[in-house]
Amino acid sequence: MTTPRLKLLERARPEIMAMQPYSSARMEAGQATIMLNANESPWAPPGDDDCGLNRYPDPQPKALRMRLADLYGVAAEQVLVGRGSDEAIDLLVRAFCREGRDTILISPPTFGMYAVAARTQGAAVIEAPLAADFAVDADALLAKVTDSTRLVFVCTPNNPTGALVPLPTVERLATALRDRALVVVDEAYLEFAGDAPSATGLLDRYDNVAVLRTLSKAYALAGARVGTLIAHADVVALLRRIQAPYPVPAPCADAALAALSAQGIAQARERIAILRGERERLARALPSARGVLAVYPSAANFLCVRFADAQAAYRALLAAGIVVRDVGRYPQLADCLRITIGTPQENAALLGALGLREAVA
Ligand code: PMP
Repeated sequence: MTTPRLKLLERARPEIMAMQPYSSARMEAGQATIMLNANESPWAPPGDDDCGLNRYPDPQPKALRMRLADLYGVAAEQVLVGRGSDEAIDLLVRAFCREGRDTILISPPTFGMYAVAARTQGAAVIEAPLAADFAVDADALLAKVTDSTRLVFVCTPNNPTGALVPLPTVERLATALRDRALVVVDEAYLEFAGDAPSATGLLDRYDNVAVLRTLSKAYALAGARVGTLIAHADVVALLRRIQAPYPVPAPCADAALAALSAQGIAQARERIAILRGERERLARALPSARGVLAVYPSAANFLCVRFADAQAAYRALLAAGIVVRDVGRYPQLADCLRITIGTPQENAALLGALGLREAVA
C-alpha cells in the first residue's frame, strides 16, 4: 500500500499507510488441518457442541461478508464487517484524522458517536447545523470545509430527527469533496424509509463515499453487534490495517447469517412493515396528546416529538414503566423526546400513558 491506487488515501494518516499491519494467525491458516499456530486450546469449551469456539474466528467471516455484499448489492471486497457500525465510525476517524490537525464535519443535531470518536482521536469536530426543518444544508456544510476536513458525516434517516437526506444532496457533497474528503453516509435506519435509495448506488461513480449499514435495527440484532462499512476496496483495506484482529465473534456471525436467511429476511420485512404502520399510527395520534407541540416526520423506527414540558412527559412515561430518550441536550431539540416504535401493545401503552386512553387496544 505504499503507492495508493486511490487518490483519497493520500488524505489518510500517513503513519497508518506506512505501518506493517498485524497478520493474524487465522489469516495464515491456509488449508492446514492441525492448527498449532494461534496458541488456542486444542479442545472445545464445555457446552460447545461443534461451534469451534476454541478457535479464533475468521477475521472477516467469508460467508457473512458474501451474504452482506449480496444484501447490499456490492462486491465482497467493498465490505468491511465489524462490531456494529459504531466500530466503523471509530476506524474511519482513526484512519483519516491526525490528532490536533485533521477534522470531521457533522450537521447537528445528529448521532453523537461521530463527535465522540473524533474527540477521542483528538480531531476537532466542525459543525454545520441542520436547517430549521432538519434538512441537511449542503451549502452550509461545504462552506465549513477546509483543508483539514477528512470526513463528512451524513446520517440518513437522521438520528434523532428521523429526517431523510435526499440522495442528490449526498451526491453534491461527494462531487464537491472528490479526492479531498470522505462522505460517510450512515444508513443505520434506511430499511424503515420505504424505497428510499441507498448511497451505495453512488459508489461506482464516487470513490469518496462510504456507507454504513447495520443489522442492529431492522434485523433485530443489536445484541450481536454486526455492522458493515461499504466503500472502495482500498478504503476497506485501509481500515483492515487498524481493525482488531478478530472483530466478529463466531456466534455473532452465525446469528447474522440466520437473520439474513430467506426466512430471516421475510420476517424482517414483515416486522419493518408493522413498525412503519405503527409509526404512522403514533404520528397521527400523538398530536392530540396534551402537551405535544410537534411530531416531526420520520423515515426511521422512532419519532422525534416536541413537548411543552418534555421532563414532565418523560416522568409520566417512566411512571408507567416506559423509558424513552430525552434528546433535549441536542441543539434545536429542547423539550424533545425520541420515541422508539415498539410493538402495537407497547405503543398503545405509550399513548395511554400520555392520556390518549381511547387508543389503548
Ligand atoms: N448510526 C446511527 C445513526 C445510530 O443511531 C446507531 C445506533 N444508535 C449506530 C450508528 C450504531 O449502530 P450499531 O453500532 O449498533 O451498528
